[in-house]
Amino acid sequence: MGQGLSCRESHEHGLFRAVQNGEFEIVEAMLEKNPSVLEQTTVHGRLSALHVAAAHGQIQVLSMLLDRSVNPDILNRHKQTPLMLATMHGKISCVERLIQAGANILMFDSLHGRTCLHYAAYYGHSDCLQIILSAAHSTPVAASWGFARFVNIRDGNGATPLHLAARQRQPECVHILLDSGALVCASTGGYGYLGSTPLHLAAHGGSLDCVRELLAWGAGRLQRDSSGRIPYMVALKHKHGACAALLNPASPEPLVWPSPLKFITELNPEAKDLLEKALTEANKEREKAILKETVYSLPSPLHSHVGAADDTSEASDIELCCICFDQVCTIEVQTCGHQMCAHCTLALCCHNKPNPAMACSKVPVCPFCRSNITQLVVAKIKTNDDRELEFSPSRPRRSRKSFNFSEGSSSFKGLSAMGSFGRMGGRSLGKLAAENEEVDKP
Ligand SMILES: [Zn+2]
Ligand SMILES: [Zn+2]
Repeated sequence: MGQGLSCRESHEHGLFRAVQNGEFEIVEAMLEKNPSVLEQTTVHGRLSALHVAAAHGQIQVLSMLLDRSVNPDILNRHKQTPLMLATMHGKISCVERLIQAGANILMFDSLHGRTCLHYAAYYGHSDCLQIILSAAHSTPVAASWGFARFVNIRDGNGATPLHLAARQRQPECVHILLDSGALVCASTGGYGYLGSTPLHLAAHGGSLDCVRELLAWGAGRLQRDSSGRIPYMVALKHKHGACAALLNPASPEPLVWPSPLKFITELNPEAKDLLEKALTEANKEREKAILKETVYSLPSPLHSHVGAADDTSEASDIELCCICFDQVCTIEVQTCGHQMCAHCTLALCCHNKPNPAMACSKVPVCPFCRSNITQLVVAKIKTNDDRELEFSPSRPRRSRKSFNFSEGSSSFKGLSAMGSFGRMGGRSLGKLAAENEEVDKP
């Protein structure tokens, strides 16, 4: 970690070595003998025993020190707290224990003006990131700063945690941060000056997953940095060919996660997981077409096609989606109860290009009955115990055998009344989404 434990005095060296190695009894005996030993710091980095324990993940020693009322926010030479060091090294149990002991998550170091959230994002410790974000909900930080402000906290260079995660090729952290309200188009510039967006930094870092994730959250491909470059040019400059292909403004826009929709923000975790997978898949399908035209080879995950519905697909007799007749119904619209697959649900909700002016005015409705969607939930896999259908005779029948386009059921009339939806059966998701886009245009 760059901060050596160079110590002049031998007993001091002894303490820090014992802490570093987690020699609990030795540390305890030294403290019993001479409690003032706790005030000592390493000569080089002015690390306290708590810093050393945190950085090396020595949870037992760390706990003991905190129980002896050591200040959890004690600073080293660079004004780094033990929490920052534990986060930097991904020592999750120490991160948890320090926060539990009241460590302040809103401290800034003197190196780059970074917080523990920056450290978690930069080093890609998504588990630590998650813990700190949860703490931000429950600690005074939320009250004094507000959670959204904390997620978008800037370091001395104007970089948010999202900027750092994108730059350092940490797609999991990018995802968690976006999901927690990180601003996808935040600029490092501020105060009217042009700066880099997370997409610029992802293009620089060359992580296809980060680029993909940011685009799916609506990152703009045309935003310019202080040198007037769009992310595409940054990727080209650093020879990240596959990233450049996706960032090329001439390439088709990916589907964007419809975060402004109320029922999307209120999704339960399972439904959200299904839809996110469907979005990723749909965009990877689109990418194939884009990347086929480039000479660059793709990392293997792109070729894998792990469908969200694969785990249920062996049950071939259960209801297929009545829009695409291809995937199993996994999502149920509430309150009407109609079901469709995750892919079609997304195609219904996603706009190829988010239009801020229209985001709120055009809320998708159920394609079958045109009733308002109040919630999306994971469709229950039907069992023999199927009392739901008896309960409501008007409830749509969902088996493929009984629900067919040729039957002209009332549900289908609702669907065909949508115009473009009537033509959608069997079409590719890309076309489906494109048509949905057209429907939404005034
Ligand atoms: Zn479908
Ligand atoms: Zn419906």
